[in-house]
Amino acid sequence: MTAKTIGIIGGGQLGRMLAMAAARLNFQTLILEPQADCPAAQVANEQIVAAYDDPAALAELAKRCDVVTYEFENVPVIAAEKLAKDVPVYPPPKALEMAQDRLTEKRFINDCGIPTARFHAVDSQADLEAALADFGGQGVLKTRRLGYDGKGQRVYRSSADSPEGGYAALGSVPLILESFVSFEQEISIIAARGLDGAIACYDPAENIHRDGILHTSTLPASISDETAAAACEAAEKILAALGYVGVIGIEFFALADGSLIANEMAPRVHNSGHWTEAACVVSQFEQHIRAVAGLPLGNPVRHSDCVMQNLIGDDILSVPDWLRRDDVLVHLYGKTESRPGRKMGHVTQLRR
Ligand code: AMP
Repeated sequence: MTAKTIGIIGGGQLGRMLAMAAARLNFQTLILEPQADCPAAQVANEQIVAAYDDPAALAELAKRCDVVTYEFENVPVIAAEKLAKDVPVYPPPKALEMAQDRLTEKRFINDCGIPTARFHAVDSQADLEAALADFGGQGVLKTRRLGYDGKGQRVYRSSADSPEGGYAALGSVPLILESFVSFEQEISIIAARGLDGAIACYDPAENIHRDGILHTSTLPASISDETAAAACEAAEKILAALGYVGVIGIEFFALADGSLIANEMAPRVHNSGHWTEAACVVSQFEQHIRAVAGLPLGNPVRHSDCVMQNLIGDDILSVPDWLRRDDVLVHLYGKTESRPGRKMGHVTQLRR
């Protein structure tokens, strides 16, 4: 195979792990990221230090790369569409468009025949009050754009929670109120679609969040085979509807009766798929590189049960202990400064 160059927009840990997987398959990687010496650039061939929508930087990316992908979903859609005129961009920019706005995303997921929480667009305090009244005073208010790790959210647990000032408290920006879902488990599925249309689904992970940030992903999830199959079917519908190429992460709430409610999708490799590097022959990172490079998808079968745990902030201090264990794969992101809430690395413990 002749080495080709893959452009990656975004230089965080996901870009880093993609670049590492790409190198193993003889690809060169070129990172576009405004922060110099970012986690991805430390292991990639080269970095263009510029904004994600810098026209000259995008032109250089198009010129030097055979294909361009991205590691986060807030790449400006216009920049991705413009780039796609000059070089293949995978996943397709339409996936970015569907995932960037929670309202568009929920409508799209519903159009694929997959249930979500009920929702109302909220563009004023009056909208919020009407929407909360419709949901019996309960719901989760979220910013439509740029929310992550539980940021930009407010939970209304009962009609005793006053809606007063709720719209302004989230910045008077476009919001969405979702009905409150009483779930048994939060699960996610990592799936991939190749250039040839083939689809591969990893087993669903069961996810626990702490302070809005993913804490652990456990395999297998405590769900039935039917529920697991339903998650894969939902992923197949979404991938097909988007003419998708690459890896996608889709989060669901699993209800007591085993049915699934889709929460959100990320058109990229996903934190809840990091376990695949330790418990599958082909990780989500290699799978994504294979897909965008037009190679056959790898086998997503899991050979071990496992638990992936994020190392957040000072959790990084526990690395010497993790390194002493013989059943743990440690993965660090090359970030020199630890801050509360910052993802510094992760560990995957195999349960044999
Ligand atoms: P999100 O940013 O949409 O992933 O939401 C962050 C977390 O908030 C989720 O992982 C859930 O634990 C909780 N959450 C979000 N939306 C809802 C909902 N509609 N009902 C109940 N819990 C929710």
